[in-house]
Amino acid sequence: MAKPEQPPSPKQGDRQERQSVLCAGAKAGTPEASRLCPHCGTPFEPVSEKHRYCRQKCYLAAYRAANRLRIAAYLAANRGKITKRSAAYFAANRVRIAKRTAAYSARNRDTIAKRHASYYAANRDRIVKQKAGYRAANRDTISRHVASYRAANRDKIAKRRAAYNAANRDKIAKLNAAYRIVNRDKIAEYQAAYRAAHRDIIAKHSAAYNAANRGRIAKRKAAHYAANQARIAKRQAAYCAANRDKIAKYQAAYRAAHRLSKPINKPHYQGRMSSRIR
Ligand SMILES: [Zn+2]
Repeated sequence: MAKPEQPPSPKQGDRQERQSVLCAGAKAGTPEASRLCPHCGTPFEPVSEKHRYCRQKCYLAAYRAANRLRIAAYLAANRGKITKRSAAYFAANRVRIAKRTAAYSARNRDTIAKRHASYYAANRDRIVKQKAGYRAANRDTISRHVASYRAANRDKIAKRRAAYNAANRDKIAKLNAAYRIVNRDKIAEYQAAYRAAHRDIIAKHSAAYNAANRGRIAKRKAAHYAANQARIAKRQAAYCAANRDKIAKYQAAYRAAHRLSKPINKPHYQGRMSSRIR
């Protein structure tokens, strides 16, 4: 590319002197006038006649813009060679590259986050599809990676989760409540299956718990009953009204089994609590 013509200057001698003081190491023939970078417009002092852009970055950007098609054709024609070469470079410089990348990320955290967010927003659909495809194609590899990460970082994960839970207590409670409402049937099924499969363990656990907490449980029940007397009475009356036949049959069977002749006078409390029926 041709160098831009320097405008003639009446004070040429003056400027040349100043220039030689400013840029003592400059090559002979250094143009004396300041130039504007044709890419970004920044004025700069050239160090040689061919020095057209203020910095490498602008030179590369202009070069790429001017040779877009040629570069694309070269890349397409040499894809395999280039991939191999860069893989070899990465393999040979792994540690150095990782360090440099980490330092760059640390220096530019905000810029990078913004760039990612805008890229994601612009390409959301494509990214979502691509990720789903990748997950589907690599299910085993991914679950192996996740498992080994979990095993290696158990403590870190537990700490992070505890901190997250503490910071998001309300949000999590809301999400859980919503999930329970939406998935009521699924959860009930799951719980029933779990109970059926673990009947013995559950019975043992609750017996142990009841034995260890007899006083506390009795107090809690009494407090609950006292606080909800009216509500409980109403519910029981409704239950009795709705299940009159079933209750009568049940009581008759109970009387027959225990040789009672009189009908039971006490109101029927919750079906489970048969100890209340005397
Ligand atoms: Zn520039």
